[in-house]
Amino acid sequence: MSKMRIIIAGGGLAGMTLAHRLHRHGLDVAVYERDAGIAAREAGYRIHINSTGTSALHAALEPRLWKLFLATCGMPNDDMLLFDEHLDPRPSRDKSATEGIGVPDDIPEHLVVCRSTLRRILFLGLEPVVRFGARVTGYRSAPDGTVTVLLGNGETVEADVLIAADGINSAVRAQRLPQMTVADLGARSIAAKVPITNATRSRLPGQLFNTFSMAYDDDRTGLTLGPLERTDPGSPLVLEQDRAFQDEATKNYALSIFNSVASRMMPDAELCAATPERLKAYALERVASWHPALVETVRLWDTATVQPLTLRSCVPVTAWEPSNVTVMGDAVHAMSPALGIGANTALRDALVLGGELLAVARGDKALLDGIGAYEEAMRGYGYQALRASASVGEQVIGHLPLPE
Ligand SMILES: Cc1cc2nc3c(=O)[nH]c(=O)nc-3n(C[C@H](O)[C@H](O)[C@H](O)COP(=O)(O)OP(=O)(O)OC[C@H]3O[C@@H](n4cnc5c(N)ncnc54)[C@H](O)[C@@H]3O)c2cc1C
Repeated sequence: MSKMRIIIAGGGLAGMTLAHRLHRHGLDVAVYERDAGIAAREAGYRIHINSTGTSALHAALEPRLWKLFLATCGMPNDDMLLFDEHLDPRPSRDKSATEGIGVPDDIPEHLVVCRSTLRRILFLGLEPVVRFGARVTGYRSAPDGTVTVLLGNGETVEADVLIAADGINSAVRAQRLPQMTVADLGARSIAAKVPITNATRSRLPGQLFNTFSMAYDDDRTGLTLGPLERTDPGSPLVLEQDRAFQDEATKNYALSIFNSVASRMMPDAELCAATPERLKAYALERVASWHPALVETVRLWDTATVQPLTLRSCVPVTAWEPSNVTVMGDAVHAMSPALGIGANTALRDALVLGGELLAVARGDKALLDGIGAYEEAMRGYGYQALRASASVGEQVIGHLPLPE
């Protein structure tokens, strides 16, 4: 084969991390991303990165970008703590569901990062590789092994390998693995950022400043708070970036989420149509009788950042035959956010698939052997993480179990 042409559908954390690794090693890779630009939409909140995620980022990023990543991270001070609605501690969750999958409890490195800041970092150096405003709608496979990638504007692009990294609603996965379904877990969230300044910090008790704190009542209505306080916000590497990057990478905030089972939440149509002000007022009404410090977390929501979320999960399917169209990240193992490991698992895909594609490019492996080895490994750790997240989400968020 002449130089292998690799197309990645979707420039989220998984796709961009893989693209960095391949691009740094001189492979021919292109990312097709539907968003019009890197800042086209509010691309997310604070996420927790464990050593699985940091290993993948370390392997992918050139040293300067790695340092920039570290300079924009926070290092949380404790584990996940559970409370009831009166802010009285609840026993820790049952950890047996998560043994052996590298969740935060077992891992020394706890980092938190703003997802959109990380995405900006992942874009640096990949400007020639990423095409924005390019929605991938599907593909055609030819007998000679070529894949024709179909774009929303009617254009087509030829590739030797197509990788679906286009998230939970992946168009490529729908075609490649039509047997895979996405289950509604029957829980809804309203998420927002709480700015952390001296003034707001003084209004919240210190016991809420853990990696993650979650308070819930007996109906599994819950409030969570996960702070992101940068350890090195004044780093010269951050200050070198443009104003929008600096603003985002230096402001401290907490991710706050109001959760409820869907049957107790406002109807979906209303939830999707509600203004951020209405969503905030609704969450405040629902927790009005709770401990004042918990109510305060909602009062402090930055209204511009309020968004409704539906909790969904991919449902694992049995092994499939590898081909030159593969899947990674939320496109194949979107999971309950209960453990905060979806992105870490997506980054692990980038590490494992990247390693296999580099071996193929060196001539050490045949293409389908490399993709098959990645898919087999991914089904192991990816589904284990997905099932553990579903199990903990059932206990703590009260969402539905995964369908069999
Ligand atoms: C509230 C919340 C908190 C979370 N916290 C954590 C956490 O603490 N730790 C953690 O590990 N995980 C966390 N997660 C999960 C994490 O955000 C996801 O698992 C992760 O973002 C998945 O990355 P991805 O690249 O696979 O998919 P995505 O991030 O969904 O990226 C997909 C990309 O593809 C693009 N795209 C979509 N369709 C197309 C198309 N047809 N053509 C081209 N491009 C397309 C999208 O615009 C997007 O850029 C959290 C999730 C939520 C909702």
